[in-house]
Formats: sequence, structure tokens, C-alpha cells
Amino acid sequence: MPEFDVDLLIIGAGPAGLTAAQYGARANLKVLVIEQLAPGGQALMIDVLENYPGNVEIRDAKGNVIAGPRTGFDFARDMHRQAEAFGASFFSETVNGLIKEGETFTAVMVDGGKYKAPAVIIATGATHRYLDIPGEKEFSGRGVSYCATCDGAFFKGKKIFVIGGGDAACDEAQFLSRLSPQVVMVHRRDRFRAQPALAQRVMQNKNIEIRFNSVIKEIKGAQKVSSVLLEQEGKTYEEPADAVFVFAGMIPQSSLVGGLKAELDESGYIVTDQKMAASVPGLFAAGDVRSGTFRQVVVAAGEGAVAAHSAAEYIDGLRGG
Ligand code: NAP
Repeated sequence: MPEFDVDLLIIGAGPAGLTAAQYGARANLKVLVIEQLAPGGQALMIDVLENYPGNVEIRDAKGNVIAGPRTGFDFARDMHRQAEAFGASFFSETVNGLIKEGETFTAVMVDGGKYKAPAVIIATGATHRYLDIPGEKEFSGRGVSYCATCDGAFFKGKKIFVIGGGDAACDEAQFLSRLSPQVVMVHRRDRFRAQPALAQRVMQNKNIEIRFNSVIKEIKGAQKVSSVLLEQEGKTYEEPADAVFVFAGMIPQSSLVGGLKAELDESGYIVTDQKMAASVPGLFAAGDVRSGTFRQVVVAAGEGAVAAHSAAEYIDGLRGG
């Protein structure tokens, strides 16, 4: 057997990577998780993780709330603690390249550092999609945002536009509606893509005005956002605005596997089998970067567990177990 630094290298520490780390460590593997930002991934930005099984409000006999439902931030922090408690190591760095020679994967860091392992789980997730309209880049951080829980508080009581019609747009509009009575959702189609229960709550929310069949053409301002240019049924109009929150979907962070020639689907997500194994032996993928996943924290966690279990089996096989 060649020399390895660790048994299992996990790239990305969102719910998929954190769960894989815990399961890998519990399977007695030497696990290293490499994450370029803080552990937690997109879960850090979820206000209330209300659809995670068991994450409910708990009341005492007098009806006082004594716990939960917990935030995505709390969940992510505790998943990280749990993985570390079981022996997984974490390293904060950006992986620049991933190669495979024989049975050895080598992850190359931006600073030139290298880690070798027989198995790798890619749990790098997905990043938000930009609208690519005039003003979006210019006013990013000055009224344009991609995270309501991060930036919402800056716009208390202000006029806030939310772009998109998926779960993220609806979730975040709900959050923003607690900060301001003037939340306007702009969606390009005549119905939401979001889960019906969530979409219905948004439609019943008095603080949210919904504009279907509408698109945002431009974001305007001087030092910060002051108006938006909208188009509805062929008519263009300008309206005052203090903030624009964009939730236009996700782009998979799968470029690392490009050099390995792992199979990707037409949108760039990593194709795996039911064991989360990619087309390259020893390479696994879990969570939002995986083709066909249902992008939920609970699913990412489940896929992370499966990927770690499959990686352990693969490593056993290499060792003749
Ligand atoms: P999504 O489901 O892909 O929705 C993106 C939305 O943006 C769609 O409504 C889409 O319109 C719109 N859009 C895309 N490009 C646009 C453009 N250029 N201009 C205007 N609108 C544009 O993405 P998401 O909401 O970020 O969710 C991603 C995944 O995470 C989903 O699988 C979702 O279920 C999951 N998620 C779940 C929760 C939850 O369970 N609470 C919360 C957040 C995210 P069309 O509808 O016309 O395509």
C-alpha cells in the first residue's frame, strides 16, 4: 500500500461534509476535512431549520417555549463539534487541485501544501447564481445581498425587493417580512417553484407583496441602491428601493473534479451511484454538488453518512478486508 496522510479526505464542511466526517471518524478512519470558509456551509444562513425532522419548538407544562426550533447556525456549529468529538480533523484552506495517481488522491492547497488519501468525498455544495443585470455587481454589499439572515437587519422598516420564486426566495422573504412591512417579491413566472406549504405562507403574509410575471432589469443608485427597474407584461417602470435580495438558484462547485474526468451531468453536478460513488474509484460526492439530490439539509446529511460508509467499504477493499 502507498503512504497516505489520512484515510479519508473530505472537501467541504457543509451538512454533507460534516456528517461524512462524523461517520468516517466513527468508522475508525483517519479523517481530514478541508473547508475554505467556516464549517456549516449554506446551513449557517438558514434562519429556522423548521423542516429538519425533530427540530421543533418544545414547551413546558405552562406553555412556555423552552427549546427550539433551532437555527441553521446552531445546527452547523453542533455538527462540527460532534465530528471533532469523534476524532475528525479540520483544516481551513482552499483546495486548488485534485489528482489521482494509482490508488492515491492528492489534494493540492493554494499555498502548495498537499494531502494524500485513498478516498475523497466531495461535499463542496453549490454557490448562488447571479442575475447578471446592470447594478447587481456595483451595489453588491451596498443594498444588493444574497443572504437575508446576514444583511436583513441593515434594512429594518425599509423597502426590500426579493428576486426569485424558489424555497430560498420564499424562506428569506418570510424572514425579511419580520424586519420590514414592505417586502416585494419579484418572480418571473406566474407561480412559485417553492414547496407549496412555504409558498402558501408567503402568499398569506401581509408584509409581502407578490409580483408574478415580473423581472428586474436594473438596480440603480448612487452610493447605495435607491431604485429598481422592473418589467411586467412588456411594461417597464422604476420604483424606489432600499435593498435587493437575490435568490435565483445555485451553481454546483464541482470544478475540482475536472482533472479527474469524473462524470458530470449537463448542469455540472457530479453523477454518483446510490452509494454516492462517482465514476472515479475512491471518489464520492454528497450534498448539493451531487446530481439529482433534493437540496435539503436533511438530505445532505443523509448523503454524507452514505458516502462515508461507502468510502470505508472502499478503503477496506483496498486493504484486502
Ligand atoms: P431554485 O429552487 O432553483 O429557485 C431559483 C428561483 O430563481 C426560481 O424561482 C427561478 O425561476 C428563479 N430564477 C433563476 N434564474 C433567474 C433569473 N435570471 N432571473 C430571475 N429569476 C431567476 O433555487 P433555491 O430557491 O436557491 O433553492 C435551491 C435548492 O435549495 C432547492 O432544491 C431548494 O429546495 C433548497 N432549499 C430548501 C429550503 C427549505 O427547505 N426551507 C430553503 C432554501 C433552499 P423559475 O421558477 O422560473 O425557474
